[in-house]
Amino acid sequence: MLMRIINYTNVCVAQCDYCAFYKLPTQEGGYVLSQEQVFTKLDELLALGGDLAAFNGGFNPHLPLSYYCELFSAIRARYGDRLEFYALTIAEFLYLADHAKLTLAEAAQQLKAAGVRWITGGGSEILTEAFRKRHAKFKYTVAAYFEAQRAILEAGLRTTATMVIGFDETIDERLEHLERTRAFQDKVLAEIPGTRGLESFLCWTYKPYFTQIGGIEISTAEYLRHLALARIYLDNIPRIRTSVLTQNENALNGLLYGADDFDLPIEDEVTQKAGATISLDFEKILAYARTLGFNPTYRSVLAAC
Ligand code: SF4
Repeated sequence: MLMRIINYTNVCVAQCDYCAFYKLPTQEGGYVLSQEQVFTKLDELLALGGDLAAFNGGFNPHLPLSYYCELFSAIRARYGDRLEFYALTIAEFLYLADHAKLTLAEAAQQLKAAGVRWITGGGSEILTEAFRKRHAKFKYTVAAYFEAQRAILEAGLRTTATMVIGFDETIDERLEHLERTRAFQDKVLAEIPGTRGLESFLCWTYKPYFTQIGGIEISTAEYLRHLALARIYLDNIPRIRTSVLTQNENALNGLLYGADDFDLPIEDEVTQKAGATISLDFEKILAYARTLGFNPTYRSVLAAC
């Protein structure tokens, strides 16, 4: 896939200590993108041959639900099925529902009515209550995260699983995250008629630059071992994605460790602010996959997975 992450606002009150992206509402440098600015970014994505955008911003207390519904309706009206978009992450969805004083089911239905088809599992980092208390105590609890993801599936929307490793999490915490993800998938597939559940699992690595907690990056070898473990253990999730965004070409080695899917990103301010570097030399990245013996083909999220 060729995708663009659109960071529609950097204003956030969650104050996660591993984040180099956010500005508090009282700080200088906060922004909110207009519909026209979003359209420009989507036009650039289409011109480069991509057809998938993902919206990811902060917990901005000044943005009402109508900002989101109007934005997503306008995108559907303007682009139809020429592109797909991942509208928000579970984390933002939780904040938005709470802020709008809606139940999770009501919020999901309003977004669906605005043309939303996907609310993905981004913002999960490490899904243990201890990790959340250490680093993101204002974001959500693990129980709330899965409750929201279930509400999304019950509303007939589609979703994914994600994970980020390389903070200070223990191996036990990584395993707990995988266990919770696997158990959730088993449960929703058994209990929600017609759902596809978690359609993919994407793990990426923490970028420590300019964040409050800092740290050093884990090695690619450690990342690849984790991908292999995820592929073996999450045998109830169809796709395992490897992260070009945080591992650049090295991510393609993930295809030898059980991954079968990846996207080429053209923008993501959140990880770029923390040290990620993005190359638009797509041919060079794909050529590396070919040297490993793979023949990458484009997967449009608009087509049935
Ligand atoms: S990671 Fe997301 S929720 Fe946390 S501070 Fe950054 S923008 Fe806000």
